[in-house]
Amino acid sequence: MKKSHVFVGLMASFLLLAAGCAPDKAKETASSSSKTGASSSEVTSGASEKTYTDVSELQDSYDVVIIGSGGAGMSAAIEAKDAGLKPVILEKMPTIGGNTNKASSGMNASETKFQTAQGIEDSNDAFYNETLAGGHGTNDPELLRYFVDNSASAIEWLDENGITLDNLTITGGMSTKRTHRPTDGSAVGEYLVKGLYENVEKRDIPVFVNADVQSLVEKDNQVTGVKVSIEGQDAVTVNGSAVIVATGGFGANQDLITQYRADLKGVVTTNQEGSTGDGIKMIEEVGGYAVDMDKIQVHPTVQQDKGVLIGEAVRGEGAILVDANGNRFVNEMDTRDKVTAAINALPEKAAYLIFDQGVRDRATAIEFYDEQGYVEEGKTIDELAGKIKMDAATLSKTLDAWNTAVTSKSDTAFNRTTGMDEALTTPSYFAIKIAPGIHYTMGGVKINTKTQVEKKDGSTIPGLYAAGEVVGGLHGDNRIGGNSVAEIIIFGRQAGTQAAEFVKSSK
Ligand code: ADP
Repeated sequence: MKKSHVFVGLMASFLLLAAGCAPDKAKETASSSSKTGASSSEVTSGASEKTYTDVSELQDSYDVVIIGSGGAGMSAAIEAKDAGLKPVILEKMPTIGGNTNKASSGMNASETKFQTAQGIEDSNDAFYNETLAGGHGTNDPELLRYFVDNSASAIEWLDENGITLDNLTITGGMSTKRTHRPTDGSAVGEYLVKGLYENVEKRDIPVFVNADVQSLVEKDNQVTGVKVSIEGQDAVTVNGSAVIVATGGFGANQDLITQYRADLKGVVTTNQEGSTGDGIKMIEEVGGYAVDMDKIQVHPTVQQDKGVLIGEAVRGEGAILVDANGNRFVNEMDTRDKVTAAINALPEKAAYLIFDQGVRDRATAIEFYDEQGYVEEGKTIDELAGKIKMDAATLSKTLDAWNTAVTSKSDTAFNRTTGMDEALTTPSYFAIKIAPGIHYTMGGVKINTKTQVEKKDGSTIPGLYAAGEVVGGLHGDNRIGGNSVAEIIIFGRQAGTQAAEFVKSSK
């Protein structure tokens, strides 16, 4: 297969960040690298060059046309191919991976082999109930049931495909370690995109970038293809016996955000610039509908200069949050909506994550934050306090009280119960200044558990499937950290499988 060469991944992330034009990431998003090995020399040498399919290879028709190359789109493509079909991926950006690239915390799953091996007790019911509590009972119960019941097999599937998430941590609102990360504890997103893309390449699945899908094509009330403009050329029709919409969310679309949430005008976003809600519009045009569009997750810990999300794993591994005076003010492991509200209630509407070398060793995404210049360091607590212009005595007192709470397993101040395995006593000490940022759009199109797109009357649109952040309902009012990566793999796979069955049955 002829390939056009495009520099991507770290290189692209670096350039976007350097140019200050990355609205930044969605998902848990840390944004790029965080892989400890991702040194800036690798970045500038373009070591992560990827190759994509040359436009001259585009065919008139495929069995399954997949719109979007994030985790959902690539998982769908792999399943469709393994079911014996001919899929294609169309991606509007110059590089693949979407917001999935920026996911940081990990992938939640229950009853997994890795939990068992590490003696972690968990159940699908507990995962269900805690996700439902996190979403204030508003989650779509059928999607949620399917999600938890298929989470362990998704972890297995990834592992079978060389993507091993065997390092466990915890995120806000969860009672146990069910957030699966790469072995070295690094951010999940780039590892996942790299691993999925290797599988896509291995299977010779064509991937066209700079391929902006503008609409779905319908015939006799069935979706039969897409209209796509490649490299800025006039749109052409690509036929598909089935179409999977995996275009992600709309966190980078200020107009759409403010249409539903005027209060979020001007708030920094962690999303990549391709997350503009195109799939929602396309699906509405053929009779589908969206739910929960006003449910937009604001992540509590975002570095504000470039909208880089500081992953929840930093708190999960033991960091605390303090205000400008050096006092704790919230249970750091509460759900994202509550932590965000607490930060917004501070006079500065900003706070500091404080942690030690131990946290830094366990949450290696911190290396990336440091490379970006977000991390302040002090060999002692006093030195750190000086650097961030905070009262040293107050910060010391706060850390002493916290370390006592960790030792006695009792946080009488804020009732934190998780992410407190280790005291903050290993120098050096570090701080990252954060404030909330737009992170994830929980709303999106309505699907059933087969990922078929539904109309308001409950009927489905033949030939049309959707998966990932473009879908609404699973998370309800508030998404739990680690659940979006799980969603894209679980429902991406299902979309690929279901679309394949549909195509085979209609042949
Ligand atoms: P998910 O997590 O649901 O997989 P991502 O944000 O990771 O979502 O990926 C979605 C991808 O879809 C992004 O790479 C985005 O650029 C791409 N995309 C969005 N709109 C279009 C479109 N109109 N045509 C082609 N690709 C699109």
